Amino acid sequence: MAELLFRDDPYATACEAAVVAVHENAVELDRTVFYPMGGGQAGDTGRIGNWRVVDTRKGAAADSVLHLLEPGSVPALGAKVDLALDWERRHRLMRLHTALHLLCAAVKAPVTGGRIAEDKAHLDFDIEMEKLVKDEIEARVNELARSNTATRPVWITDAELDSRPELVRTMSVAPPRGEGRVRLLDIPGIDLQACGGTHVANTGEIGALKVVRIRSEGRKNKRVTLELA
Ligand SMILES: [Zn+2]
Repeated sequence: MAELLFRDDPYATACEAAVVAVHENAVELDRTVFYPMGGGQAGDTGRIGNWRVVDTRKGAAADSVLHLLEPGSVPALGAKVDLALDWERRHRLMRLHTALHLLCAAVKAPVTGGRIAEDKAHLDFDIEMEKLVKDEIEARVNELARSNTATRPVWITDAELDSRPELVRTMSVAPPRGEGRVRLLDIPGIDLQACGGTHVANTGEIGALKVVRIRSEGRKNKRVTLELA
């Protein structure tokens, strides 16, 4: 089990760590600032010492993280290494991820899926196409971003989550469980839901947003795609 520094401090861009497991083209560390792909958010990239991290995935065990390296050599087991994120890319992911929480608040419909890449992000809604008006959604998410609302993580127990099913908005992505507690992201007055991703500290940090596309991806999937303006 690794210490996941991004959970309490998504702004941590670097740390020292020890290599605790070595795989073919991947390593696990005792602590990390690298977010593993999950909850729709892309995995981080960056450097471990002189090695390039091309992607980050969850490992088999709880809270284990696989840092996928460029094919070639891997650091030795037990080695002490310096980690550094591709921070500009991660910060865009954090801005777009937080923007999806605003989109969730702007569109009153069940969410059926979502994805955050470094250049764009989307949510799928179970809603009729004619209820999704591009200009209205764009105006609303920008208004919410400009509200400069501070975001905060809140931890609740699995039992509390079970008693409040409305806190799970993305039907296709169950929040991580099994540790006895689940993390929520609270954007007071705007959105509150279970989410293990990385977010900016204030909605104002997202900047301007544009709705670049609204498209039907199936009967229960009407996809709204956002980009940073
Ligand atoms: Zn989130």
